[in-house]
Amino acid sequence: MSVSATVLPEKATHQQTRTFNQQLVLRALHDHSPLSRADLARLTGLTRTSVGDLVGTLIDDGLIEEVGRGQSSGGKSPILLRVAPDGRHLIGLDLGEAQFSGAVVNLRGEILRSIHLPLEGRNGDAAVELVFQLVDALRADDRSPLLGIGIGAPGIIDTSTGTVRWSVNLNWAELHLGPLLEQRYGVPVVVANDSQAAALAELTFFRRPRPNNLIVIKVGRGVGAGIILNGQLFQGDGYGAGEFGHVSMRSADAPCRCGREGCLETMTSMRALVDAARAVEPSITDESGLVSAFLAGVTSIRRIVLDAARELGVAVGWLIGALNVRHVLLVGPVAEFGDDWLGEVRWYARSSVLALLARDTQIEFGHVHDDVVVLGASALLMERQLGLGLVR
Ligand SMILES: [Zn+2]
Repeated sequence: MSVSATVLPEKATHQQTRTFNQQLVLRALHDHSPLSRADLARLTGLTRTSVGDLVGTLIDDGLIEEVGRGQSSGGKSPILLRVAPDGRHLIGLDLGEAQFSGAVVNLRGEILRSIHLPLEGRNGDAAVELVFQLVDALRADDRSPLLGIGIGAPGIIDTSTGTVRWSVNLNWAELHLGPLLEQRYGVPVVVANDSQAAALAELTFFRRPRPNNLIVIKVGRGVGAGIILNGQLFQGDGYGAGEFGHVSMRSADAPCRCGREGCLETMTSMRALVDAARAVEPSITDESGLVSAFLAGVTSIRRIVLDAARELGVAVGWLIGALNVRHVLLVGPVAEFGDDWLGEVRWYARSSVLALLARDTQIEFGHVHDDVVVLGASALLMERQLGLGLVR
């Protein structure tokens, strides 16, 4: 095992070199804890003296801590180190379409406290106010230094500037959400598309060994994919990579909230499924009613849900054909449909792409569903602020 480096500018300043080396040490500890100073020197390629110096600073800063002694290889047994889980706390937000959720997260990606606030039809400025309310509530009583705020939201998000370029449901266009929050709270803020955040969560916290390439498809009230290529989040030329929920299917013509007709989302999202189910079983009014009827084996509902799974499967097959990514994960409330639903998606995905590619591709449920966006937004913040988390 070794820790590879990002590129350091050719004429790096002393401070740049130091920050870079600190990130090497932090990343090694994040990925392989606990480690001794000698392990760190070996993994990072830094000298023992540099490692000792950097470790001292990081301990003073509260970012790493000593956790006892390791096995002796002759002399004195070495002191082991790890990232201090509560050395910093992060706030992760999931600006979902029915509710806004937020959590206090530690440096291990553990959720310490979470809050959910119903959106109740709010959009525009009222939705921004709700974001403030959520952050205020999460900050109260938390004593660890705050690393920053990570946000996942549906829509096209320019992560370089924290701008929501377009989010239909929230009625946000060119909203400088990141800067607004940075100004109000005085900490760094990152904003990303929710499906892209979901992919970062799986990659950062739950996949070992970390795959180089990964597609995470989030199916909830909307449908979108987060794509990891060569260890990095792939966002496309305009941050919209993975927006395949709004690709039109010729077999459908239902109006979509994006303004077009027949989008994949109009057939396969939880919202679409609840609407279709209600039309045949009026007692079904929400996602939990839909899932219960499906699991109870109500024939008409099973047909609606599994037909949609097939449509989604075909679209997943296109993604596999376009990218040849071998790990495909499905996350979100659809996981409650279980293996029958997954089996249908898998079968149709594999049937719609070259057999050779299909054979090598794993299509599974992801690790987390409810908190996946909160954790992904936190992962992005950790990557930006501490250089932690992502594969290099
Ligand atoms: Zn659409």
